[in-house]
Amino acid sequence: MMPAFRTLGEERVTLHDLSGRFVAHDVLARADLPPFDNSAMDGYAVRAADATVGATLPLAGESRAGGPAPAELEAGRAMRIFTGAVMPPGADAVVMQENTSPTDGAVSIDQAPKSGENVRKRGSDLEAGAVMLPKGMRIGPGEIGLLAAQRIGAVSVFRRPVVAILSTGDELRDVTDPEEPGTIVNSNAYALAAQVREAGGIPWVVPNVPDDLDVTVERIREGLGADLLITCGGVSVGDYDLVKDAFEKNGIDASFWKVRIKPGKPLTFGLAGDKPVVGLPGNPVSAMVTFEVFVRPGLRRMLGDPKPFRVRHSVALAADHTHSPGRPELARATLERDGDTVYARPLRLQGSGSLPSMLGVDALVMLPDGVRAFSAGERLDAIFLADHSGAAEAPFDA
Ligand code: AMP
Ligand code: MG
Repeated sequence: MMPAFRTLGEERVTLHDLSGRFVAHDVLARADLPPFDNSAMDGYAVRAADATVGATLPLAGESRAGGPAPAELEAGRAMRIFTGAVMPPGADAVVMQENTSPTDGAVSIDQAPKSGENVRKRGSDLEAGAVMLPKGMRIGPGEIGLLAAQRIGAVSVFRRPVVAILSTGDELRDVTDPEEPGTIVNSNAYALAAQVREAGGIPWVVPNVPDDLDVTVERIREGLGADLLITCGGVSVGDYDLVKDAFEKNGIDASFWKVRIKPGKPLTFGLAGDKPVVGLPGNPVSAMVTFEVFVRPGLRRMLGDPKPFRVRHSVALAADHTHSPGRPELARATLERDGDTVYARPLRLQGSGSLPSMLGVDALVMLPDGVRAFSAGERLDAIFLADHSGAAEAPFDA
């Protein structure tokens, strides 16, 4: 389904809002970096040829970061210099302070520098005109710092997709509605909106619809004003599952109606023109898990992410686990690390409708369909859901 998800237009975004966005055009360096030859150390600027061990060089002024341009360094002399300060013309090395002994009005050299030592040459990091951020690159703190250093205050990035979320079902009420027997809160709208936002999209919660074909058709048409439309519920085979008809009436050509995966059997995908439409199951866990594996990568692609998938990694089961075979299952689990091994502990509840089975989840463990019982220690693949997975640990001892 991937080619259906394409990048949208582009927009210019300023530095503070760029994190997590993807570059829409090659960004070229505006200027050499560093912009001038400067010292990498606190010490003395010298001509390397003069600075032999034991030489005592008379001092000639100083150069400090942000200070006035230094005069040319005459042969046989040394200039006091500080990190980031402009190198005086004529000097080709900096002797770090620790390798010198100060004397009155002079400095003696304890360790001879090589030409170029401790000098950061103009343009040595980046030359003006070079491709600095290639199209498609993800912008993070490092890229933002470099853009700032280049006096580039805004960049063209791919637009964030607006994702319409439309829930269906007579039983749905909103959080603040009064309680009524037989009704439930439209929790999917909130959970899916949070997933959309986490993935970098802009959620648009369309008012939910009852199980009524005309209203559903109309509301889907409205939702097609977004870049991507997600419906949830009503996609199964029950008498009140109207999404299929409502898709057809909107000219949405669905390519399938079921996936062999648990949770989440009923699922559909189609195009309205070139606009992707996904029909997710109504069961809260099914909706979230199928969003994760089928929608999120597409949404990431729309955002311009060339690597739209989550990290998939081998884990060891922390405890024995059974499931009913027949469909491959994505079991919700927490992760913990012990030495070199990442252990996955499946949560107790694994039902498609059990929302508590989504609490604190770090990973979806991929249980193959043909096997009923898995033993502790057994190796399986898992989709890591977040950067804050339980497998993370401090890189250094405190
Ligand atoms: P459906 O896919 O419409 O047959 O719904 C399957 C189950 O999910 C039913 O128990 C629904 O009540 C529930 N459900 C459907 N839509 C939502 C929703 N938006 N929020 C919470 N639960 C829902
Ligand atoms: Mg329903």
